[in-house]
Amino acid sequence: MGTGTSRPPGSPLQAPTGSEPVPILLDGLRTSTAATPRVREFKAHGLQPVGFMRCCGRSLAGWTIGLAWALYVLGEAQAVCADTGGWAEARALGPFVFRSEFPLGDVQPLLEELGLLQADLVETLRIPPAAERIEVYLFREKGTYNQFLARHFPKVGYRRALYVKDGGPGLVLAYRNPEFGNDLRHECTHALLHAVLPVVPLWLDEGMAKYFEVPQAKRAYGHPYLGAVQWTVRLRGLPPIEDLEKKSGVSDMGNPEYRAAWAWVHFLLHGSPEGRGELVRFFADLRLGNPAGTFSTRLRERIPAVDGYVSTHFRAWKPRPEPQVGRAGDGARPAGLLLWQ
Ligand SMILES: [Zn+2]
Repeated sequence: MGTGTSRPPGSPLQAPTGSEPVPILLDGLRTSTAATPRVREFKAHGLQPVGFMRCCGRSLAGWTIGLAWALYVLGEAQAVCADTGGWAEARALGPFVFRSEFPLGDVQPLLEELGLLQADLVETLRIPPAAERIEVYLFREKGTYNQFLARHFPKVGYRRALYVKDGGPGLVLAYRNPEFGNDLRHECTHALLHAVLPVVPLWLDEGMAKYFEVPQAKRAYGHPYLGAVQWTVRLRGLPPIEDLEKKSGVSDMGNPEYRAAWAWVHFLLHGSPEGRGELVRFFADLRLGNPAGTFSTRLRERIPAVDGYVSTHFRAWKPRPEPQVGRAGDGARPAGLLLWQ
C-alpha cells in the first residue's frame, strides 16, 4: 500500500493516451468500425508495458525479465490501492486491482480463483502473465452498475458484465448476481488474454472465455455446454472452425456460435495433443507479431481430418467425478500463488 490514484465511484475512467482515436473494446461489443481494432489498440500502447512484455517473451531470458516485470506490476498495483477512493474496499491481487461496493471478504474464494486463472492461462497456453494492471469494478447490485454504465458508457447496450479496453488498463465491470462468478471469470479471461496479446480472433476469444468461466473443477467435464454439444455432434456435427472465423462481431455470435467456439476449444485442450500444440504456436505467433494466418488453415495442415476427430472426441467424452482441486491458500496449487505474494 502507498499513495493512491484510485477513483471514486462515478468519476471518469482513464482517458485514452494514444495520439489517434482509440476504440473502446468491450466483450464482443465494439464502438469502432475499424477492421482490426485490437491491433490499433496495441499500437496505441506505444512504449507502455504491454509492448515491452511482448518483446521480452522471445527467449528464456525474456521470460525471466517478464516475471520481474510482473512482480513490478504487482507492486505498482498495490500502491494504486492505497486509497479506496470512496469504494467500500480496494485491493490489489496479482495483476488485478479490485474496487468494490461491498467488502471483498464476501467473495474471497472467487478472488483467489482469479489468481489461479492467471496461472492456468500461463500453463495452458504458454503465454506470459499479464504485464499490465487490470482494473476490476465490482458493484453490489444491478442498479448501481447500470448507473455507472450510463455515466461512463452511455452508448453501450445493457450487458450483465463487461470487459473494456480503451488504450489504458483493461477494465472489467460486473455486479453481484447468481452468475457473478462466471461473469467475473469470463471477463477476466478476456482481460488476461488481451493484456499480453495484441489481437485474438473473436471466436477464439469467446471460446476461451467460455471454457475458463466455470470453476476449474468443472472445465473438462462439468461445463453446461457439454451435453448440448454432444447432442449437436450426434445429430448434425459441429460447424467447422471456418464458419466461426467469419464472425466479426458479437451480433454474429448467438448461443450456437458460443457453444461451437467452446467446443472447439475443449477439443483443442482435451482431445488432441497436436491441436493443442498448434494452438500454443498460434498464440505465440500472435504475441510475437509473426504472421499467424488463420487458425483453421494451420489446424487442417496439422490434422487434415480434424472434423472427424472432433466428433469422435465428444462421442467418447464421458462424465467423470469432479477432481478435488485445491484453492489458493491450501498449498495444493503453488504455481497459482506466484502472483499473489
Ligand atoms: Zn466474452
